[in-house]
Amino acid sequence: MDAASNGAAASNGAAPSPQHFDVLIVGAGLSGIGAAWHLEDRRPGTSYAVLEAREDLGGTWDLFRYPGIRSDSDMHTLGYRFRPWTDSKTITDGDSILEYVRDTAREAGIDRKIHYRHKVVRAEWSTAETRWLVEAERTDTGETVRFSCGFLWICSGYFRYDEGYTPEFEGVERFAGRVVHPQHWPEDLEYEGKRVVVIGSGATAVTLVPAMARDAEQVTMLQRSPTYVASLPAVDPVAKLLRRILPHRAVYPIVRWKNVMIQTLVYQLSRRRPDMLRKFLRKGVERALPAGYDIDTHFEPRYDPWDQRLCAVPNGDLFRAISRGDAEVVTDRIETFTERGLQLESGRELEADVIVTATGLNLLFLGGVEVSVDGEAVDIPSRMTYKGMMLSGVPNSALTVGYTNASWTLKADLTSEYVCRLLAHMDAQGYDKCVAEVNDPTVTPEPLLDFTSGYVLRSIDQLPRSGSKEPWKLRQNYVFDLRTIRRGPIDDGTMRFSRPSSVRSAAEPLEPVA
Ligand SMILES: Cc1cc2nc3c(=O)[nH]c(=O)nc-3n(C[C@H](O)[C@H](O)[C@H](O)COP(=O)(O)OP(=O)(O)OC[C@H]3O[C@@H](n4cnc5c(N)ncnc54)[C@H](O)[C@@H]3O)c2cc1C
Repeated sequence: MDAASNGAAASNGAAPSPQHFDVLIVGAGLSGIGAAWHLEDRRPGTSYAVLEAREDLGGTWDLFRYPGIRSDSDMHTLGYRFRPWTDSKTITDGDSILEYVRDTAREAGIDRKIHYRHKVVRAEWSTAETRWLVEAERTDTGETVRFSCGFLWICSGYFRYDEGYTPEFEGVERFAGRVVHPQHWPEDLEYEGKRVVVIGSGATAVTLVPAMARDAEQVTMLQRSPTYVASLPAVDPVAKLLRRILPHRAVYPIVRWKNVMIQTLVYQLSRRRPDMLRKFLRKGVERALPAGYDIDTHFEPRYDPWDQRLCAVPNGDLFRAISRGDAEVVTDRIETFTERGLQLESGRELEADVIVTATGLNLLFLGGVEVSVDGEAVDIPSRMTYKGMMLSGVPNSALTVGYTNASWTLKADLTSEYVCRLLAHMDAQGYDKCVAEVNDPTVTPEPLLDFTSGYVLRSIDQLPRSGSKEPWKLRQNYVFDLRTIRRGPIDDGTMRFSRPSSVRSAAEPLEPVA
């Protein structure tokens, strides 16, 4: 729905009163739709709306349209816990993921509660009124629309939608061919029979290279330094086997848990025995590439596994394209763009008709929403994250941010469950306000992420902090979070609650109530 959302029109010329909801969700991507599904399922009486800046839902999976766009984690964990992934492919294409999110929204009636083209720009908490005033800008008319809500839930993803990251390249204006960023893939781009250079070595580059190699004359992946790349089966063999004897509903949790355990094991191994994992990954690359291939130069990273995101390639498609001679990896640095292509520091020149800058994303926290509490702007880097889903000192709000070392949705689902439990607890106790406060002086701030990926390093100063202890420490560990987020107490001494002043007796102190 593109609801007429400006609240009751005032006949006396005064500003219309904002439309009020119990909960406002910002963003209709995988997380926002999952959040809404949990409200529908667990809190049927709760009024809510989803404010979405774009003209459609799906977020990441609607935005990115480059050839081969796909997940790089398995759909048994990237899928929602509540909705089995039934397709045989577990590493799957962007369209199938988009369809899955769309189906979830349609079947639960969530799509009728989305206000499209509403970009949230400001959210102001008022303690006196115990509510958020939320300002959105209509992206089609430029009009400002106001809402209010009791609880604000930001599911805005982690990157800027308007612009991907492109470093400054010397001489780019001289290049006679086309330069394309994967975040803004031109529908009319023809690359059949052409020479393509993909700059980058991350998940997008390793996806694009084999996909474009099918039609292009030649595809070169130009990287400054190598990345860990692991081949995964596109179809999960265990799921395939189990589906012969069990229904989807039974297969899904089994395969999901198998994959959670593998992801956790691989990550833990990368932290505790990096050399062992390094050797294991190297063996995989050796098996997939022709004898004599220069793995040391092109596939032997200088960092430990999971210091940056590990790239997965389904059925080794990247390695197969290299083995066939359709794709080449060049590890070098760009000196300058030339009219014909790229001049590299080694002296080599790469000729190209199309250059794809798969150089990454620009991180954006809270979807760029300016948040203030009682008139004071929230300085995000000075805040800590409570269980990785709330900001210290910011009342009645949550944010959904997935794991960086496992599938995003594992954490998104846990966050949704927690928010529903929190709201239920507040209802049961008659509270109207909750706020996570750092009340332990021994907790010290730490960087939120220990990733060394460029997009994290470029923005780490703009992110909130993790803390040295629970519940402020961001563990990035699903099994641990199951205990603390799904099962841990809501009233844990850190989350402070209060009741409406009208029911609080003069003698009663401000909460927390044990
Ligand atoms: C190419 C690519 C591949 C990926 N593959 C994987 C993978 O395989 N596995 C994995 O775990 N993760 C992957 N990720 C991470 C991915 O972003 C998450 O999996 C997931 O899709 C995030 O969902 P989300 O809803 O939180 O955010 P998004 O998908 O980014 O959606 C956020 C939504 O919020 C809206 N929004 C943002 N700000 C505002 C605002 N101020 N007002 C209103 N609306 C706003 C946006 O328009 C968007 O629709 C990938 C990311 C990319 C870019």
